[in-house]
Amino acid sequence: GVKALKLDSKKPAVTKPKKKIDVSKELGVKLSKPSLSFGVIGHVDSGKSTLAGRLLYDLKIVDSKTLHKLTKESESIGKASFALAWIMDQTKDERERGVTVDICQTQFKTEKSLFTMIDCPGHKSFIPQMINGISQADLTLLIVDAGKNAFESSFGLSGQTREQITIARNLGLDRLVVAVNKMDTADWQQDRFEQIVDELTQFLVDDLAFAKEKIRFVPISGLSGGNVVAKQKLSWYSKGTLMEVLEAEAELKHSEDSADRFNDEFIMSINDIETSSDDVLISGRVNSGKIQPGESIAVSPSGDVGVVDKIFANIESPGAPKAKQDRDLVIVGEFVTLKVKNLSLPDNVKVGDLVSRSNSPIQASMKIKCKITTFKMNLPLLLGSQFILFRNNISVPATLSNIEGRKKKHLGSNQDALVEIDLVERPIPVLTYAQDSKLGRVVLRKNGETIGAGTVEEVL
Ligand code: GDP
Repeated sequence: GVKALKLDSKKPAVTKPKKKIDVSKELGVKLSKPSLSFGVIGHVDSGKSTLAGRLLYDLKIVDSKTLHKLTKESESIGKASFALAWIMDQTKDERERGVTVDICQTQFKTEKSLFTMIDCPGHKSFIPQMINGISQADLTLLIVDAGKNAFESSFGLSGQTREQITIARNLGLDRLVVAVNKMDTADWQQDRFEQIVDELTQFLVDDLAFAKEKIRFVPISGLSGGNVVAKQKLSWYSKGTLMEVLEAEAELKHSEDSADRFNDEFIMSINDIETSSDDVLISGRVNSGKIQPGESIAVSPSGDVGVVDKIFANIESPGAPKAKQDRDLVIVGEFVTLKVKNLSLPDNVKVGDLVSRSNSPIQASMKIKCKITTFKMNLPLLLGSQFILFRNNISVPATLSNIEGRKKKHLGSNQDALVEIDLVERPIPVLTYAQDSKLGRVVLRKNGETIGAGTVEEVL
């Protein structure tokens, strides 16, 4: 657990940015281009990796020499069609296991927009990583396999696709792009496409309360490239390639984002930590506000205070080592690394902790009140029985300690309730849904099943 930190009675000094910069000018540049982060989810073998490789190749982010090399390597082990997928799965041991395990972030630009693609693992045992990945996305890109029977089996009741999309929706991702993939195997038939659109729409709207106008469907083939970046000639479809649809979504988000959102409180959730002798490298996505080198920060729940010495933008381009670019200012939405000095207990910084300005530390708690909805459960959830609580990229053991206004000592399937949740091991930093519509959300899992989701109403 986290050791409680005894802070000196006198508050640590709040420090100012090191360098005088023209903030409004920098902001102008940053805000001039739409940016969108999207989480790619889908059943194993639906073609996520192939599609990601196709996007990067067709956008010329990966050159033909790299693809040629990967093609040769994949041919040599008799899996020629895997070359595109390997653009994403760069590391050797992932390749040997043939599964995309870790979350992989990749940034790329088109003329119109800046994108961060988050590849979320599809295997059931990697749902925690999937939750971590999707919690950093603005939009979900769902890949479904249009192949005969493949769609039906992945979307059957036991399919992971259902669980993934349910989680994404409950973490607040209310916009969805569905790539109906492998249309080449269905001879690009309109009937097949529409059948999938109808079935999915019914599930998404009826069961998950998606607004119909917030779902876009695109028929594509990641393998041939049809309708990904290059247009596929189809007499029955004219609503844009996948890239055009994503650009339109980025544009829409850009127009809806408030122009002064960087004036919100600075909050960043921690995704990765590297500790060296005097400083700590903290990586994550800026959830809100802005920060500059020289400013002092607090980490919750430890309460420790430090000073941001340097800021790097994390650019992960396939084939190239992680390039670190020095920044004078970073704002909401950016994926960054803060080099922090003067933390007294650097070992107490954990993935999932929240960073804020030192003069407005985020409250940490062992007890929260949540409004939750349960899903279909095999067994009722009893008061006192343990489950795993997910919040953004934290997952911690927890128990139900009270169900308000009910005599019953358990929750059954498909119920709404106001409950008190006790954390078992350590406090976590908490924001209510009213304070932050993303960080104020929770997902409940038990025995490897997602059993419910909801919002944080009160920190107790
Ligand atoms: P992932 O597990 O979702 O990442 O799926 P992969 O990208 O590894 O693809 C799984 C298999 O489907 C591989 O054999 C791919 O070559 C194949 N595949 C992917 N996209 C397409 C497509 O658009 N058309 C066809 N025919 N096959 C595809």
